[in-house]
Amino acid sequence: MFKKCAVLIVGVVLLNAALVFAEDVFVTQNGKKFHHELCPLIKNKGAQKISMKEAKEKGLTPCSKCFKEEVSMEKPKLIK
Ligand SMILES: [Zn+2]
Repeated sequence: MFKKCAVLIVGVVLLNAALVFAEDVFVTQNGKKFHHELCPLIKNKGAQKISMKEAKEKGLTPCSKCFKEEVSMEKPKLIK
């Protein structure tokens, strides 16, 4: 009985954690990528703030400049 209860609590905590970690990202009007707030590519472009979940639902992909860690496995970067 106690075990079932504990599993339920852990499940709820994980769900809440997922919501807390839902990051906000920024997209430009016709952009196909979403960016971090400080990305130079969206500077002065009137980027709109949306949730990362929303961005992914729209089929947007992470910008390779500001989401380096996440895309580095797919696209190796050229070193200047
Ligand atoms: Zn970016």
